[in-house]
Amino acid sequence: MRIHLRLLAATALLTCAFGCGGDPTPTAPTGSGQTASIRVVSTLTDQPVSGVFATGGSIRSTRSDGSGLLTLEAAAPGRYSVSVTAPQFVTRQTTVAIPGNEARLDLIASSFDMTAFDQMFRGATSAGRIIKWTTAPALVVQRTGLLWTNSPDERYLAEDEQWTDADIEGVIADFTFGLQTISAGVFPAFSSIRIEQAAVGRMVTVPQAGAIVVARYRGLRGPSGDRIGGLGTANTDSAGVIRGAIVKIDRDNELGGPAFARRLRVHELGHAMGLSHVTSRASFMAPANGGLPNDADIEACRVAARRPPGSRSPDVDPATFIATFDTTHRIAQR
Ligand SMILES: [Zn+2]
Repeated sequence: MRIHLRLLAATALLTCAFGCGGDPTPTAPTGSGQTASIRVVSTLTDQPVSGVFATGGSIRSTRSDGSGLLTLEAAAPGRYSVSVTAPQFVTRQTTVAIPGNEARLDLIASSFDMTAFDQMFRGATSAGRIIKWTTAPALVVQRTGLLWTNSPDERYLAEDEQWTDADIEGVIADFTFGLQTISAGVFPAFSSIRIEQAAVGRMVTVPQAGAIVVARYRGLRGPSGDRIGGLGTANTDSAGVIRGAIVKIDRDNELGGPAFARRLRVHELGHAMGLSHVTSRASFMAPANGGLPNDADIEACRVAARRPPGSRSPDVDPATFIATFDTTHRIAQR
């Protein structure tokens, strides 16, 4: 009798080790409802993740097998909010459609630098969520230098100085490199590239829908009134999709040479693609002297490429997002 009691106590402890730590205990499918299969991979390696399970109201889940495949079951068809959990990975909150077949979902490894990622992609300029272009933007290069002034409607006087053909070639090369790197290859090129040349003395209205408009400005100042080397800004809709962006390059800063100009252009393009400043580690998005994208930046960009606009920390998808057959593909197509 005493031995039996001790066994019961041990069982209770074990249950607590799995059930009391914060993760809800998974409930297995009964075989009586609608099902959906999900293949779970690691965000950065694409390797299948085993031992994953989902929890949520009214759903049951197997643990994923060696190929990352798990089965969800619900009594009725519908969209279900789930938390997808695995040891060594960040729990992802998302929505799945049941029934469904082989939706693909990726999980971020716990070792990933989420602090720097949140600064870069869910920072001050994007109100704590990911904002992004969901189709390749156009690039518009204004050849004529503009005179900066405090202009809320973004209208500036065209001056008599022009970017040379070589300048423009450099701008296009640096921006294309930045677009490829920051989108992690989702956008291999701009949807189009237009070179405009405003007539001297004309007022130019800079913003253009669907485009990143870059020009050189004389006497550029930032929001706080300080003289700055460059400025990138993005306009987003309520879902966090960027609809237009502006990059301003200070005329005098650009005279610092091609290497300096390239770093500045890629950094400002980062802002035009929704990125904020990183202070927790070295980054091309450091507020000053950040260099070109390093390995950690490239990893962060790859994670962001696999998250929808509206994604919040640590890994919460917006309610409108539904895991589908291939997340990356879906983002690239929209
Ligand atoms: Zn900046």
